[in-house]
Amino acid sequence: MIDSVLLALFLPCLGMSAIFIVYMCLLWYATTHRPQIAMPSKPAREKGLSASELEKMPKVTGKELVMGSECAVCLDEIENEQLARLVPGCNHGFHVECADAWLSKHPLCPVCRAKLDPQILKPCENPC
Ligand SMILES: [Zn+2]
Ligand SMILES: [Zn+2]
Repeated sequence: MIDSVLLALFLPCLGMSAIFIVYMCLLWYATTHRPQIAMPSKPAREKGLSASELEKMPKVTGKELVMGSECAVCLDEIENEQLARLVPGCNHGFHVECADAWLSKHPLCPVCRAKLDPQILKPCENPC
């Protein structure tokens, strides 16, 4: 008889405690995790160009370079007959190998840090 009385008192107590603990946990969770709800925006995409994107970049010879003929990657001269890649937009030129090595890692011009937008390398699909 005493057993069942104790049980009758103990069980609701246990239930209340459990609810209280869960409630406290939720409260703690909400307070500690709240700052993370406002997720910081992802760091800017620092992915270089893919091989196919590199292929779309204009290729010129050294004598066609308008912004000087020194390659800023290897600091060597781009000879008149040497092939160079031209950065669309800023028209800076680099040896094909140098440009490919750099641009496959960084999507920007090594001279003026102009962002290389893969969009401008895509052929215009709509009649502009
Ligand atoms: Zn070079
Ligand atoms: Zn540039």
